[in-house]
Amino acid sequence: MPSAEPSLALRARIPLAPLSTLGVGGEARWFVRAERLDDVVAAHRWCLERNVTMLVLGGGSNLVMADEGIDGLVLQIALRGVEFSAQGEETVLCARAGEPWDDVVAASVSRGLAGFECLSGIPGSVGGTPIQNVGAYGQEVSDTLDAVTVFDRQSGEIVSLSARACRFAYRKSRFKQDDAGRFIVCEVRCRLRPGPPTITYPDVITYLEQHATTSPRLADVRRAVLAIRRRKGMVVDPADPDTRSVGSFFMNPVVPVGVHARISAAYADGPVPGFALPSGEIKIPAAWLIEHAGLSRGDRCGRAAISSKHPLAIVNLGGATARDVLKLAVLVKRSVANRFGIWLHPEPVFAGFRHDADVEFLERAGGDRGG
Ligand SMILES: Cc1cc2nc3c(=O)[nH]c(=O)nc-3n(C[C@H](O)[C@H](O)[C@H](O)COP(=O)(O)OP(=O)(O)OC[C@H]3O[C@@H](n4cnc5c(N)ncnc54)[C@H](O)[C@@H]3O)c2cc1C
Repeated sequence: MPSAEPSLALRARIPLAPLSTLGVGGEARWFVRAERLDDVVAAHRWCLERNVTMLVLGGGSNLVMADEGIDGLVLQIALRGVEFSAQGEETVLCARAGEPWDDVVAASVSRGLAGFECLSGIPGSVGGTPIQNVGAYGQEVSDTLDAVTVFDRQSGEIVSLSARACRFAYRKSRFKQDDAGRFIVCEVRCRLRPGPPTITYPDVITYLEQHATTSPRLADVRRAVLAIRRRKGMVVDPADPDTRSVGSFFMNPVVPVGVHARISAAYADGPVPGFALPSGEIKIPAAWLIEHAGLSRGDRCGRAAISSKHPLAIVNLGGATARDVLKLAVLVKRSVANRFGIWLHPEPVFAGFRHDADVEFLERAGGDRGG
């Protein structure tokens, strides 16, 4: 075993399943919990000098880790600290990457600051939010994000990237696509303003109407979003096995109007739902496609199942392997493609899989694999 940097609390053979919300995955060969910026830099150097790969871990809520584990160093980001500072009509929020995201949302809402209320209940860390530009119920983190402070593993420097430089799109950013693995997010800076809350999503509107909330405040919208999410198993709750997941396993496909029209024309049992986007394209709910492709809640592969509360979530019934999860995801993708000709794209990041046919199939934009 190579000797560690003096400042680096390096551990070996750490089980990863308990560090992820899905609860699958083998061991990390090496593991470091970074509580200071120095730990991030030292871990990077340690990997560089020994030619060891690095996986950055936040809350583990968007990761499927291989049963074989991670043959490299897993760097858990545990940088803490949150500051709110008034700047004219705005409040600038600086949060270190290891802060639990929902704590930051709760703190913002309690200060009367709008921008995050619809992102209530999303698990994981602050540093995980820019990776896939988290979004829910009509808000995305890119709506308020001003800049991120990152450690650039290419240059070995700490730099600030503006929101524009992050290249955000629907569940995308340069951190997840073109520059995957290059940057370690250390701090996120957002600009927030006093209310009113964002209320655009039908589920939220209906909930507020049913609860006779006539002039909803930020806290009412947070409460509504949390209640709606709990019904769908989308708030992590150790007592609810339907929340042992990565949330939505697939993104909602965005298709040209003509494709939506073609599918609707071919589908005899009624209209195929779709939401027009400003781009002119149509977003089709992946949950609807799954339920209309012959799959049902509770369908299983080994100990992985389609959630009984939401067809978009694949849950670990207890004792599932990463392979069970992949097999079920492949079945879902194949069934939707066979029925509608649409190739669903997975939302979570797959880590530790090498030349894996299931992962390659899931990540493929289209086309097919025999068998
Ligand atoms: C029940 C449930 C509900 C969910 N609902 C939503 C939802 O409504 N909307 C939504 O968008 N997502 C949702 N998610 C997905 C997930 O919670 C988010 O994507 C979250 O932001 C991931 O953060 P994390 O810290 O857990 O990241 P992890 O899962 O630890 O990591 C995910 C990816 O980000 C990278 N990463 C993490 N932290 C850093 C960092 N500091 N620097 C560089 N890279 C980093 C990792 O290397 C990995 O590639 C849900 C998940 C669950 C389990």
